[in-house]
Amino acid sequence: MRFTPAMFQTKLTRAALASLLALVAFGSTAAQLFAAEKTKIVFVAGRRSHGYGSHEHKAGCMLLAKALNDNVPNINAVVLTEGWPKDPKALDGAKAVVMYGDGGGRHMVNRHLKQLDELSKKGVGVACFHYAVEVPKGASGKAFLDWIGGYFETHWSVNPHWTAEFKALPKHPISQGVGPFAVNDEWYFHMRFREGMKGVTPILSAKAPASTMRRRNGPHSGNEAVRKAVAAGTPQHVAWASETEGRGRGFGFTGGHNHWNWGSDDFRKTALNAIVWVAGLDVPKEGVPSKTPTVAELQANQDYNAPKNFKGENIQKKIDAWNKK
Ligand SMILES: [Zn+2]
Repeated sequence: MRFTPAMFQTKLTRAALASLLALVAFGSTAAQLFAAEKTKIVFVAGRRSHGYGSHEHKAGCMLLAKALNDNVPNINAVVLTEGWPKDPKALDGAKAVVMYGDGGGRHMVNRHLKQLDELSKKGVGVACFHYAVEVPKGASGKAFLDWIGGYFETHWSVNPHWTAEFKALPKHPISQGVGPFAVNDEWYFHMRFREGMKGVTPILSAKAPASTMRRRNGPHSGNEAVRKAVAAGTPQHVAWASETEGRGRGFGFTGGHNHWNWGSDDFRKTALNAIVWVAGLDVPKEGVPSKTPTVAELQANQDYNAPKNFKGENIQKKIDAWNKK
């Protein structure tokens, strides 16, 4: 039986057929075929957590993945939910793994350090958002220093809610087209970084106000070292990039408690640029573009139903204030 183009078309799109015919015509190699393959980015969203509008891991991942798929050519961002995938093949071919879920002793990766370490050594990028930057000191903490250059260490780092004012951004692909800007979030700070900040570039830094030290000392609330740093006005790094020999790139971002903050164009662009960068791609000169989400788009995919007193117009006001130029 002879195959005609029309028969192929039932299974292949016209574009795929055209490239197939081109391959046959010009004797292209498999390597060239793979070169046109999309860059796969896997978001791993943790389980539901804090209630409406907070720690919205799944909704946050879906919003960021859609923004990437809609605006970056040749990217294939996929979202896995309910924590670390049971099927190890789920991460096959990924150029970056993005974790956004609850951390500490229940961090999704605590029991999969070896798997992600092997990927990091193969050049796969790792990005962690909000609570996903906190892991226990020891094996997990050490892995985070290797993968992303820093983590939330209890009795050293702290988790107050405050308005961070990012007045100056460094020259780095991740800050292209970003800020200055200010957003209120549960910005963890005084992170445990790699010795001497080796290979670590701070991306978002701000002076933490005295109000962040109102609580008593505790694993997440305060300690003598952080009190000293805040009193001295030492800038606190709440987002950072890591580049280290023999590993993929890394990125940590401590905001992302308040889901609505994804409505800030600067906040969202920092995350999108970072994910593109850790995947080894070039960040566009003005950063990754994406449409400001509507309140309805921010409400989509959340783990909980909106409370009866939810007022969309209050969220819209925040969005307008963040994005007025
Ligand atoms: Zn939080």
